[in-house]
Amino acid sequence: MTPSPIWHPFTQHGLGEPIPRVSHAEGAVLYTDDGRRIVDGISSWWVTTHGHCHPRIMAAIAEQTTKLDQIIFAGWTHEPAETLARGLTAIMPPELTRVFFSDSGSTSVEVALKMALGFWANHGSARDRILVMEHSYHGDTIGAMSVGARGAFNASYAPLLFDVSTIPFPVTGGEQATLDALEQACRAAPAALIVEPLILGAGGMLVYPAWVLAEMRAICARHDVLFVADEVMTGWGRTGTLLACEQAGIVPDILCLSKGLTGGAVPLAVTMAREAIFEAHLSTDRARMFFHSSSYTANPIACAAANANLAIWREEPVLGRIADVSARQGDRLASLAALPNVRHARQIGTIIAIDLVDPAGSGYLSHLGPRLLAHFLAHDLLVRPLGNTVYLMPPYCITDADLDRLYESIADAADMASRL
Ligand code: PLP
Repeated sequence: MTPSPIWHPFTQHGLGEPIPRVSHAEGAVLYTDDGRRIVDGISSWWVTTHGHCHPRIMAAIAEQTTKLDQIIFAGWTHEPAETLARGLTAIMPPELTRVFFSDSGSTSVEVALKMALGFWANHGSARDRILVMEHSYHGDTIGAMSVGARGAFNASYAPLLFDVSTIPFPVTGGEQATLDALEQACRAAPAALIVEPLILGAGGMLVYPAWVLAEMRAICARHDVLFVADEVMTGWGRTGTLLACEQAGIVPDILCLSKGLTGGAVPLAVTMAREAIFEAHLSTDRARMFFHSSSYTANPIACAAANANLAIWREEPVLGRIADVSARQGDRLASLAALPNVRHARQIGTIIAIDLVDPAGSGYLSHLGPRLLAHFLAHDLLVRPLGNTVYLMPPYCITDADLDRLYESIADAADMASRL
């Protein structure tokens, strides 16, 4: 066969690492063309919540394909989008009354930033600065990169990124420094703060406490700074509750959701906003409208998948399954934490992470990363460490036997790493 012309994301083709070809999937398991059974330990990049090819979601997609495939969404509407918007406003905090559709986590963030700037511009205010948290990740489009951590991911594109003000990550014992920095930054009247609630994902699965999130929200409210919660990763039960914000008892002004919105089956995103943000754009003046769209906004097939996901949340004991898969990981994580070169074992809901000691240097480009990746692949596991940080974020339906395989293999990896 001639070499594939595909250019894969976040892949260094020059390393010649194998790229498995997946033919089908079910639950927490992927099957390759050459007959391997691979356990999906990271929900295929954090998207698959109830399991791959969930029958209710697949059936909803199949049914929708017989009715309406695609329709322009500027000035037009359709039943799956209407049902979804109503379903979302029913399940999400009641203050978030408006639903704007897009296609990915990154675009939901772009939309959130534009909503925030549009809000202030339409109020005749010069507020245009965005506050961000150190180590954040919000996606790979230019705006999303701008509000994310600067580093290996985006160094080449730095000239395109806009300036932001960064508050430190609330390390244990240093929480007050974060809050003080936020208070200080808010005095300059920025437009908004964007945060990943309770856990920073691609930045290294860094967890911080709910009370800090609550305090950050309160500081923003005191200074009229819009509070944007990027729940692209944390939403849909990942941290143990439907939204991570719930654990801090807060409601953002703007909320970004994607990934698990369709149960992880097809791409779709929403940015939800309080009525005041919508009202700032409401006018008979066309120049004040919200200038954002993409061709596939609110694609009917994707909306049908999301409606099936919402039905599962309404009708099935999803939070119970989440509590169960979280509890089943607790003991296993404790065993890992006891290994000599394992540091910072942490868990929030269904997500667990550990750092392996890498004397050559930690971080995303840690030398351990490629070796760990190869180790897990050789053991038929989809686990994709962030440098020397190994984490799991399995689908909620994963079995004990498959969890055992994942944890045993991480223990082996820790042992391998200690002998390098
Ligand atoms: N925001 C957060 C918190 C994420 O974790 C991600 C992706 O991992 C994104 C935004 C970007 O989402 P997408 O990859 O769908 O563009």
